[in-house]
Amino acid sequence: MAAILLDADGVFHVSGEPVAGGADAVRRLRADGHRIRFVTNNTTRARATLAEELRAMGIELDDEELQTTPRAAAQTLAGRRVLALTMHAIVGELEGIELVGEDAEAVLIGGADETPETNLVFSYMNLARAFHELEAGAQLYSLHKNRWWQTKNGPLLDAGVFVAGLEYAAETDAIVLGKPSTPYFEAALKALDAEPSLTWMVGDDIEADIGGAVAHGMKSILVRGIISSIAQLPDWLEEHL
Ligand SMILES: [Mg+2]
Repeated sequence: MAAILLDADGVFHVSGEPVAGGADAVRRLRADGHRIRFVTNNTTRARATLAEELRAMGIELDDEELQTTPRAAAQTLAGRRVLALTMHAIVGELEGIELVGEDAEAVLIGGADETPETNLVFSYMNLARAFHELEAGAQLYSLHKNRWWQTKNGPLLDAGVFVAGLEYAAETDAIVLGKPSTPYFEAALKALDAEPSLTWMVGDDIEADIGGAVAHGMKSILVRGIISSIAQLPDWLEEHL
């Protein structure tokens, strides 16, 4: 039996619309004895909210089975003074971080979403503030560095562009906390007590999911590539394991 890391956004839902067969696929993977963990780069909602949304789609999971980037940030940046350009909904997840407006030790960039809040979080004023902190010596962190994500209206520009812009302006490199970073995948493997070579990463993002899996010695399955939908995963594994 395999350990399987499952991306959520673009795999089980697109813009909140469930992908047909997703809930059944999870039931079947569990019944087939696979160990599964949901690994999302979602940066805009609290874990409990995300888990509840997946359960509302019929997907059986405990909150603890869902690994999120804000919680990774909370671990990495605990006790530090951080200027956070993130959606308000995840602020509660940044427990232990001292959120400040100036004099920061670190700047943390979160992801965009489909609401107008994105305009406020990534306003010129906020980005200029972040740049100022970086110039004063703060370290740049990002929950992810995704270029775009899939929505029901097609691909939408993600916050990776702001991360890249700040890297360019401040001549620094961001430390990415979500997929495809090493600490993020190590935490997922540890949670499943899994060997990388016996672990499959299933996702729709060629860099964060597939590139990350390859770089960490895991096997990978591209949704809308190797399989056209999550519904096909149990059969595909049965054939290929
Ligand atoms: Mg995805």
